[in-house]
Amino acid sequence: MQTSERIDNYYTASRNDHTSYPALIGNHSADVVIVGAGFTGVATAVELSERGYNVAVIEAHRVGWGATGRNGGQVTGSLSGDAAIQQQLQTMVGSDSKELMHLLRWHGHDIIKQRVQRYNIQCDLQHGHLNTAYRESDIPDLQKAMHNAQNAGLSEHVRWLDKTEVQEKLATPLYHGGVLNHYNMHLHSLNLCLGEAAAAHSLGATLYEQSPVTDIQTATTATGKACVKTANGSITASTVIVAGNAYHRLFQRQLKGLVFPAILGNLTTAPLGEDLARKINPDNLAVYDSRMVLDYYRLTADNRLMFGGGTNYSGRDINNVANALRPGLEATFPELKGIDIDYAWTGTAGIVVNRIPIIGKIGNNVYFAQGYSGHGMASSHIMAEIMADAVSGTQERFDVLSKLKHVRLPVGQQAGSALIALGMAYYQLKDRFR
Ligand SMILES: Cc1cc2nc3c(=O)[nH]c(=O)nc-3n(C[C@H](O)[C@H](O)[C@H](O)COP(=O)(O)OP(=O)(O)OC[C@H]3O[C@@H](n4cnc5c(N)ncnc54)[C@H](O)[C@@H]3O)c2cc1C
Repeated sequence: MQTSERIDNYYTASRNDHTSYPALIGNHSADVVIVGAGFTGVATAVELSERGYNVAVIEAHRVGWGATGRNGGQVTGSLSGDAAIQQQLQTMVGSDSKELMHLLRWHGHDIIKQRVQRYNIQCDLQHGHLNTAYRESDIPDLQKAMHNAQNAGLSEHVRWLDKTEVQEKLATPLYHGGVLNHYNMHLHSLNLCLGEAAAAHSLGATLYEQSPVTDIQTATTATGKACVKTANGSITASTVIVAGNAYHRLFQRQLKGLVFPAILGNLTTAPLGEDLARKINPDNLAVYDSRMVLDYYRLTADNRLMFGGGTNYSGRDINNVANALRPGLEATFPELKGIDIDYAWTGTAGIVVNRIPIIGKIGNNVYFAQGYSGHGMASSHIMAEIMADAVSGTQERFDVLSKLKHVRLPVGQQAGSALIALGMAYYQLKDRFR
């Protein structure tokens, strides 16, 4: 059952900011209203507040309640749909596509690092990531990605590890090699989001929680105002940013068929203690493997193993997440057989059929960004910056990226999710038998 309170998970239990923002009551005005307070919404609020805009953020539940407060916490250069994006950008902007691809992969890291530093956000930020080869046949693709990263200026941060070297980094027999990347990071996702919300607030943004937006009336002229409504209030503004990602159903006429919910499972074990934590993962790396439907894991600051996977692309919730994930966890780290699991939960990620994140504009003054297909920590921050640029008059990157083409399924959400589930079952089977 969904409630408007925080879910019971590791992030909620270990958050370091317990601020509650009020519900929206009465009629107000702002320069910009942002709908949704996950990374997309909150990072956009920081960007715009830093530029002097009067910003209001309206969240249906609590700041960071959605995917942002439930994810694996891995900030990587993985860009969903990269091959398709590269191809389309090449056609649109020729050689400039290289610079844009670099930005889409790596600029989110810089935004996050600068923000953590500027606002002194305590979110357990650590560098170090390993993308492991689950099968020997995955090695060429991983090495290609590694060379791309090295050629993009990251050679001092990225290198190949062979099977023996991977086993020195992780107490698991599973992998055949992997890309070690010290530019990538992992962190406490909810604490980053709450820290960014506090930063926006300190710059004058107004935040409202437990206030689902029920309707948005767009402006009828370029200089007109939009009106964003909740059950007990409204805000008129020159610009609206829709940042509800997989959790919102606004503007269905324009957005239907583009983003479908996938339910992802995640858990944390009981604290392992310093010795066991260092034994299984001495360098405190975040990890995911090379399968299409992958496992991802890392240690938390209090030495729990956070372990995710078990995606359900049908959009239906996963029954008993802990039981569903335990076999994968124990196969990865046999040493943790029978370990207590303290928290297990699910979250909804927005999947786009061709995996290209969606950024765009509706009418004269409504912007939106969504559909990072499971890799949104860095991408959401990049999209936030690009939307803030567009609102403040720098349109170039927005204009290019909003022209990227997506696959729209001409079906409702349930049928679309079923089609995606079918497609993903195909990849899972392929992964199993390759
Ligand atoms: C289990 C899981 C693991 C993941 N792991 C990783 C990872 O390790 N690395 C990575 O890069 N990405 C990961 N992701 C993806 C990443 O978390 C998301 O891409 C990112 O958090 C999206 O942020 P967002 O703000 O766009 O959406 P969300 O965080 O989902 O926020 C949307 C918000 O909008 C609100 N909202 C919706 N409708 C309304 C409305 N009508 N009115 C008001 N508010 C509304 C919701 O309540 C919600 O709080 C993972 C996702 C999941 C689910």
